[in-house]
Amino acid sequence: MSSVPNGSPVGHGVQVVTLGSGKQHYQVDVEALRSILLRDDVRDRSVVVVSVAGAYRGGKSFILDFFLRYLNASRSSQQVGDWLGKEDQPLEGFHWRGGGDRDTTGIHLWSEPILTTLERTGEKVAVLLMDTQGTFDTESTIAENSTIFALSTLISSVQIYNLSGNIKEDDLQHLQLFTEYGRLACDGDGKAFQTLMFLVRDWMNDYEQAHGFAGGKELLDKRLESRSNQKPQLREVREHIRSCFDDVKCFLMPHPGLDVGRQTFNGSLKDLTEKFRLALLELVPSLFDPRKLSVKMINGDRVRAKDLLDYFQRYVDIFNS
Ligand code: GDP
Ligand code: MG
Repeated sequence: MSSVPNGSPVGHGVQVVTLGSGKQHYQVDVEALRSILLRDDVRDRSVVVVSVAGAYRGGKSFILDFFLRYLNASRSSQQVGDWLGKEDQPLEGFHWRGGGDRDTTGIHLWSEPILTTLERTGEKVAVLLMDTQGTFDTESTIAENSTIFALSTLISSVQIYNLSGNIKEDDLQHLQLFTEYGRLACDGDGKAFQTLMFLVRDWMNDYEQAHGFAGGKELLDKRLESRSNQKPQLREVREHIRSCFDDVKCFLMPHPGLDVGRQTFNGSLKDLTEKFRLALLELVPSLFDPRKLSVKMINGDRVRAKDLLDYFQRYVDIFNS
């Protein structure tokens, strides 16, 4: 079990792709990657890679820390639902609520892969969590944004596109640009990417579409519908997104409550609304339940942890060229 008695997860975020300057604009930190992927108990295992991408200060690192809680909880806690933690336990893991500075430009992995047994086959796989930064804050350029998003989409088995308020036309257009970049790096046939999940934060229209996956599906069907009377450009964006991913999902997350704005807010459960907690209880197990996990595949083959090292380097080389 990789959590200490007070419930803090063991480990830390490790930057594995950085943005530099000059010719090698994107750099892989090979040593950092090796320290995570080449451990004896990890290197030969299939991997599940869950990434969260989207605008700065959108709550990406915050939600990832709930993923860590679930993954580090015992199976019985996962089943009865008390993995959410204690009422007054600060939320720790990937660094969130950073002042005004960006502390995660590039791609970060959690230092401790979490070993989980797939219920179907009894196989032990390594779950990797990926935090990204680069999309749509004030400093990054569009090309950088697109590259970070594309890279993390290529490497992950589930890409969570974290959005605020709604799925807006802009969000879809950005997504098209990102995935166009990513497709350039793929040579195989078929769909370039696995699962895309729109995670809409602070969804307020729950009288129209309810929070959770059910409302998410309704919203997605509405937003991704391509109609013959639509402008060609709008229709293209929609068809492009559907054609890139094996599976596209959406989850509508309620607002966590007004306490998140307080200076002293530390992520304790007691400061989160009941609705938000219920949504976490629906969302997180659906992503990591050992009955549902799907491993990372590239060109039809399962990817092992040690292979990922190579893929990181290969994809980064493509984006640098
Ligand atoms: P990141 O830059 O996307 O990783 O964002 P962070 O995880 O660092 O969170 C930024 C701020 O948003 C923090 O102050 C959190 O308390 C707050 N936050 C986290 N989740 C939510 C949410 O669902 N809605 C709102 N409105 N704020 C959130
Ligand atoms: Mg962050």
